Amino acid sequence: MIFVGAQIDCGCIHRLDIDWFCGLACHTRRQSHQCRNDVFACRIVHGFCRYGDRPVLGDAAPFIERLFGGLDRIYQVHRKIGIAVLVLILVHYFITPDFKGLSLTSGLNQLAAMFGEYAFYGFVVLLIFSLVKIIPRTKIEIPYHIWRITHRFIGVLFILVAFHQMFIKRPYDGTALLASYLNIFALIGIGSYIYTQLLPWLRTRSYEVFDVNRHEGATIISARPTGRPLKAKPGQFGFFRVNKSGLREPHPFTIAGIDDDGVVRFAIKALGDYTKALREGIAVGDSVTLEGGYGHFNHRRGGKKQIWLAGGIGITPFLAMASRLKGDEGQDIHLVYCVRDRSEAIGLETFETQAGKLQNFSFVLHDSAKDGRLDAEKIVAASAFDPGEADLWFCGPPPLRAAIEKGLKALGKTPRRVEFEQFQFR
Ligand SMILES: Cc1cc2nc3c(=O)[nH]c(=O)nc-3n(C[C@H](O)[C@H](O)[C@H](O)COP(=O)(O)OP(=O)(O)OC[C@H]3O[C@@H](n4cnc5c(N)ncnc54)[C@H](O)[C@@H]3O)c2cc1C
Repeated sequence: MIFVGAQIDCGCIHRLDIDWFCGLACHTRRQSHQCRNDVFACRIVHGFCRYGDRPVLGDAAPFIERLFGGLDRIYQVHRKIGIAVLVLILVHYFITPDFKGLSLTSGLNQLAAMFGEYAFYGFVVLLIFSLVKIIPRTKIEIPYHIWRITHRFIGVLFILVAFHQMFIKRPYDGTALLASYLNIFALIGIGSYIYTQLLPWLRTRSYEVFDVNRHEGATIISARPTGRPLKAKPGQFGFFRVNKSGLREPHPFTIAGIDDDGVVRFAIKALGDYTKALREGIAVGDSVTLEGGYGHFNHRRGGKKQIWLAGGIGITPFLAMASRLKGDEGQDIHLVYCVRDRSEAIGLETFETQAGKLQNFSFVLHDSAKDGRLDAEKIVAASAFDPGEADLWFCGPPPLRAAIEKGLKALGKTPRRVEFEQFQFR
């Protein structure tokens, strides 16, 4: 799922800090060649600092999730930072400054140089592996679970880089402001890496499956907690894993329903290896491990008028949110649920019941097989309020969102704000 809104580029914050340091270094030394070296060093450490936040971003302490607007958005920023880091380390490798700097001992300095080199090779391999999903000119896709395992080693490489920057020859000594700045980032990075390795243990809960419905549109799984229930809001997602051979790899799925007693429901479409195996293999009585809830896709953050638009399996967060509506939200909501064929629609009973009961909720099923292609005109015609004065909340295939946004704009009804969630991290 994807959200759109104010995006925060943490890279900018670091760029400002680093430029401030560069300026300070140049101003105090007033030596132009030294200054150039410092600026170069600053560019490199900029990359290092950017990397310092990576482990944090990747596994998201709750306050960082709030800052970015959800774990899925963090992953998008995280990916861009990865690309920037790759470029910077390549620059660093090919343009090595000749610092007549200060080093603690020559032994440590040599070790730092060696660690830096190993980290360089490791980073290049792992970052390319992360960024290239499909091997060019082939149809060979790097499997997600392999990528996931290799990606974890980036934390170890970060520790090598931290050592490298601490003990390599530098144009400043260990007491300089810039050294402290870098050391703080090194510690934040290492601390975050350790935290991210521990976090899943803290947010993990055990569940037992008590119902499996192999619906045409999705496999609907209901499970109850065997101990403490998961803490999650409607619209959030969790990492889902069945403790059974072949189904142990954690995958992210939206919690399509969560009750007060902790019972959760998932609606999972069989799209690839894991989801197909899950549809075949999951059974009542299976033990499931859930980690979450993550994400910020929740209508309560939105405006007073909202159009919810779901395409196919993108209905899951709306199902969770609609089932919890009480009518006192102070928000008017109109849901458009677009499916290829009515037979694949899920949760219809919930939507129809809520629409019949609540004044502030209306619902339209768009059956493309019967009603043709969904477009902006149809949304405007069916909506009880003007989409140009409403938020658009979207979950579904990105081309559908692009077409609807474009269509609404052409009609002079650009939504006030668009929130969307991406069903993809990598
Ligand atoms: C926040 C979020 C919420 C989602 N909610 C739902 C939902 O409610 N219902 C639903 O049917 N689908 C949902 N998805 C999509 C679902 O996670 C993928 O369809 C599923 O993981 C694909 O796995 P596969 O092995 O069957 O498919 P594959 O064809 O092997 O993988 C397809 C793509 O899915 C991604 N993927 C694969 N394995 C993983 C993994 N372990 N972790 C993360 N991503 C992976 C990769 O980008 C991969 O390229 C959600 C995804 C995200 C990110």
